[in-house]
Amino acid sequence: MRLRKVVLYDEPTVPEIGILNQKKFLELVFGLKVEIRTNFFEKLQDDDYKKIAGKRIFDLKKPFKEHSPNKNEIEIEKSNKDTSEDGRAFLYDGYELQQIISKSIGEENLDTLHIIFTNKLTATFSEEDMGDDFRYHARALIASNPSIISTTGIVEAPAKPRRYYMELFGCASKARIKEIKDRYKGQFLEYHDNRLEKIVEGYLSQVIFYVETGEAFCEDKNCRLFNAHWQKDLFESQLTNSAFCKNHKNKLEKFL
Ligand SMILES: [Zn+2]
Repeated sequence: MRLRKVVLYDEPTVPEIGILNQKKFLELVFGLKVEIRTNFFEKLQDDDYKKIAGKRIFDLKKPFKEHSPNKNEIEIEKSNKDTSEDGRAFLYDGYELQQIISKSIGEENLDTLHIIFTNKLTATFSEEDMGDDFRYHARALIASNPSIISTTGIVEAPAKPRRYYMELFGCASKARIKEIKDRYKGQFLEYHDNRLEKIVEGYLSQVIFYVETGEAFCEDKNCRLFNAHWQKDLFESQLTNSAFCKNHKNKLEKFL
C-alpha cells in the first residue's frame, strides 16, 4: 500500500518521545505528510474506557479473557496516569486494545496510517511453544493500522543484561538494590530516558515498512528494523548504527 499520510497521537506524559522530531523524521526519511494529534485516550466515550479497562491482563500464563472492570479501574483509564515509574505499569492485551482503537477511529482514509503512542504496557500471548513460552510477553510495538507504540514497552520489553537480573534476584536490601542499579546505569533504558527519541524513530520505521511491504523486521543486527530482544541490541541498531541495511535502503528507495 502506498501511504499518503500518517497521524501521530502523542503521549504527553512522555515528552522524551519528541513528537515534533518524529514528525520531521517521517517527513524527511519517508516523504510522508504527518499530522500530530493529542493523546488518543484523552477524549473517549465512557463506554470505551470501560472496554479498555476490560483488556487488562492479570495472569501472564493464561490466554486473554475479558476482565470485568470496577469503577476505580475505569476512572484510572479516564485519568491516563503515568503508572510506569513506580513499577505498577498496567498490562493490556495489545491486539484487543488495537481493535478498540481501530473501531474508534473508523475508516478515516485508507491511505492514512494512525500511530498511537501510549504509556500503557502492551503484551501479546505467545502460543509458539506449549512449554515455557505459553504466556504473555511485553511488546513495544503492535504493528498494524492503527499501530501502537508503547513507551513503557520500549523500556520493559527488550531484556536487560542477564547478570543484572541474577544479581537482583533474591536481593532484599534497598541499599543493595540501588547499588546494583547504579552499577548497571546506562546499559538499558530507564523511564524518561533522553535516548528514547532516537529509539522511537526505529519503531516508527518498523511500522512504516510493515504497512508498505508487509515486513516490519530485519535479521541484520545493525539495521533499524532489527527486532531487538535485548536492550544492548536496541542500542546497537538504533543508537550506534542508526541506519537501514543495504537491502532496506533499496526497498525504501523503491516505495518512496
Ligand atoms: Zn534491514
